[in-house]
Amino acid sequence: MNQPLWHNIDAAEALERLGSDPAKGISGQEALRRLEQYGQNVLKEKKGRCAFFIFCGQFNDFIIWVLIAASIISGILKEWVDALAIIVIVMLNAVLGFIQEFRAEKTLKALKKLAIPVSKVVRDGLLDILPSSRLVPGDLIEIEAGDSVPADARIIYSTPNFMAQEAALTGESTPVAKTSYTLKEKDTVFADRANIIYMGTSAVSGKARAVIVATGMNTELGRIAEMVQEASISQTPLQRKLEKFGQWVVYMCLAVVTLVFILGILRGGEILEMFLTAVSLAVAAIPEGLPAVVTISLALGVQRMVRHHALIRKLHAVETLGCTTVICSDKTGTLTKNEMTVQRAWAGGRTYDVTGTGYASEGGFEIEGNRIDTGKHPLLMKAFTISVLCNSAQIRDEAGKYRIVGDPTEGALLVAAAKVGITKEDLEETNTFIEEIPFDSERKMMTVIRQGDSGKAAYVKGAPEVVLNRCSHIIEEGGGVREMAPSDTGQIIRANDSFASKAMRVLAVAYRPVGEEINRYDSDAVENGLVFAGLIAMIDPPREEVVDAINKCFRAGIKSIMVTGDHKNTAVAVARQIGIFGEGSIVLGGDELQDKTDEQLAKEVEGIPVYARISAEHKLKIIRALKSRGHIVAMTGDGVNDAPALAEADIGVAMGAGTDVAKEASDMVVTDNNFASIVAAVEEGRGIYENIKKFIHYLLSCNVGEVLVMFFSSFFWLPLPLLPIHLLWVNLITDGLPALALGTDPYSPKIMQLPPRHANEAIVTRKSAYIMLCQGGAIALCTILAFVFVLFIEKGGLPRARTAAFVVLCCSQLFHSFNCRSQSLSLFKIGILTNKRLVLAAFVSLLLQVAVVHLPYFQVVFKTQDLSPLDWLVAAVFSSFTLWAMEIAKSRKIIASWMQQ
Ligand code: ATP
Repeated sequence: MNQPLWHNIDAAEALERLGSDPAKGISGQEALRRLEQYGQNVLKEKKGRCAFFIFCGQFNDFIIWVLIAASIISGILKEWVDALAIIVIVMLNAVLGFIQEFRAEKTLKALKKLAIPVSKVVRDGLLDILPSSRLVPGDLIEIEAGDSVPADARIIYSTPNFMAQEAALTGESTPVAKTSYTLKEKDTVFADRANIIYMGTSAVSGKARAVIVATGMNTELGRIAEMVQEASISQTPLQRKLEKFGQWVVYMCLAVVTLVFILGILRGGEILEMFLTAVSLAVAAIPEGLPAVVTISLALGVQRMVRHHALIRKLHAVETLGCTTVICSDKTGTLTKNEMTVQRAWAGGRTYDVTGTGYASEGGFEIEGNRIDTGKHPLLMKAFTISVLCNSAQIRDEAGKYRIVGDPTEGALLVAAAKVGITKEDLEETNTFIEEIPFDSERKMMTVIRQGDSGKAAYVKGAPEVVLNRCSHIIEEGGGVREMAPSDTGQIIRANDSFASKAMRVLAVAYRPVGEEINRYDSDAVENGLVFAGLIAMIDPPREEVVDAINKCFRAGIKSIMVTGDHKNTAVAVARQIGIFGEGSIVLGGDELQDKTDEQLAKEVEGIPVYARISAEHKLKIIRALKSRGHIVAMTGDGVNDAPALAEADIGVAMGAGTDVAKEASDMVVTDNNFASIVAAVEEGRGIYENIKKFIHYLLSCNVGEVLVMFFSSFFWLPLPLLPIHLLWVNLITDGLPALALGTDPYSPKIMQLPPRHANEAIVTRKSAYIMLCQGGAIALCTILAFVFVLFIEKGGLPRARTAAFVVLCCSQLFHSFNCRSQSLSLFKIGILTNKRLVLAAFVSLLLQVAVVHLPYFQVVFKTQDLSPLDWLVAAVFSSFTLWAMEIAKSRKIIASWMQQ
């Protein structure tokens, strides 16, 4: 279809051509029809690595090729059973690696799909929030500061300060002004089309209403989509550290393997046999499955976090969460419910109580407990009239259930006004909208200019100090206006302080006539010389679960800090209720913070749990001060201006209800905006890290065991206790199910009673390496002892002795997997059955081992022999040695106290 040049035609014509109404948009039915016609508003995704390539990738390893080559040579030398068996095991290894990597890839892909972007759309005349993928051409969208633009759209109305950041599309990093004016030039390049907003860009200030002209792959972004494929999920610090560590392990293994090979040859072993043994040992000892298991653990952890309403955007956040030492949280909506209810009002020197809860207009106004006739209180009526005229929210009646669309603060004002019979619909009939200077957390106020019967006027509401500063007059009983006296200011401040100290959020309302001399509607020109009308105060109760979450943080050595845009008194009152402000605590206001140097703040920062009247730039200062004290900081944010702070924090936490810009800059989005969810994510982060440590410990100590068996037996001039195929099999068994099961071990209940882990803590410390060495040594010793016992004491012959060693090596690793659940707590204290997956994994692995020993076909392949029940008993005793030894060490707290030294 030939598309019109949307920038070149009038907004009205654009709407007409798209069959859309400037106030009502299109109907829901029409939208469905268009969705069929144009398809979903999404970009086609580049395909990930396909399964075949992932499988082939498993053979992209030099040692595997050497092993395959060695087995082919033994095939040529007619050792075909060996050769085939090795190839089969290599294939099984590849399948295991493939399953792990494929799962990791799939879970990572699923993570990308978790965040469903939404947009504000007007359909059938009603403003609603819908998934952006369901938008169609003709839809009317509302965009405000911080929103991502969901599709290409022609602006039909915008505030004078509306600006968009189009760097993603044009590369231009400074925001560009956008308007609704028609452009005369037909061939204006798309970067200069000031009346079009584009998919993938975002609004940085102001507000606009626009009609969608193109969706999905038909957008400008769609056209260049091939080039702008989403950035891949990069490696986390842990994965990078492991990669380096892995290289070191490889060198160590190769050194030992070479030694085993040389000793074997010196002892008169056959070159091919020794070569095959050495390469098999290398394959078994090198923990090649580690990166995939780590990725799976991280990614599965991310999926579990979704259940706690935490959506991880950057995988490294999972690790960092576990070391968080401070959580700086907004108040409104995060620590509190963001369910605002107006409770008090102040006008003309009188304080009014407002009764009734919820969003229905039931309830009324009282003075000192007596219901009043609000008709006789014109100043009160005026205050609420202003609060409605300067208001962008809507109350929706959905079959008797009331819902607020828009800012809850503004919704609460609509509800309270309805209690005195003032509604937005009625007022808008006689007060036509001209312009809005939207609320932002920096100015802390909002203005709407309207044309009424008696001329143009500006209606203002905002933080009382800010509004008072801009008021020159005050409204009088009887409707007159007089100059504001210092006594008025004093009275207003006292009323404000008293409301705020009862944990209420207070707004002042004011107005002014707008004469012809004002020809531009911006803050400097309009928000001055105001007439003060009154104060309106609302409560926002703390979330019940927050008190527990804060206690949990306290026990876990994590500081909770409130960073709020609200008044000091409000902040302190709420902070007291939730338990973060006690005797001797300090509250710091934004202006005081401003006056402090970075060094001063760094000195005092430890003693400040509450920051009030804070703006986004202050957040940055707080983060830097905390970081300079060695803290790992999680900081919440929701506005456009919060983006730098979110990026600076170790964990930037955006709120689900926040702007898209904040989400883009964040590491994690909390979908229910709840502080408790951040704490749950920290807990999860700690748990995931612990589990990763557990299976790394397991894999490495087992590998040490395998290497030492071969090393000691060569060193002590014993016949080789294990054949190449045994080593490969053991590697398959242990790297497989038990390692994965350890990755999903239930977290210790004590996980939030320990201090945060140090961010630079190595995943394998020197002490843990010693423990691995001891445990691996014990496994090796038991294996060799079993071998020696059958060979020299029982005189059972070499094949039987090898079978015994093979069984002991495998089973002791299975027993050892239970050890690895905790290096300090007894397994019986944790409960054997608390990780059923591990029990099942060990059981299945054991069955396979029994099959390998006793089934005739396997006996040919693995060169095993039947073991008697007594042999199995002996094997069980030797195999379980590491478990019992560790239980004794744990009961005497030997390891725990050594680790603490
Ligand atoms: P927190 O950081 O705890 O979430 P906040 O970000 O909600 O707080 P702001 O939204 O910056 O804080 O609000 C600061 C002050 O601005 C409030 O105390 C209130 O007086 C005023 N205010 C809040 N919302 C509006 C609004 N929609 N219109 C006008 N003034 C408002």
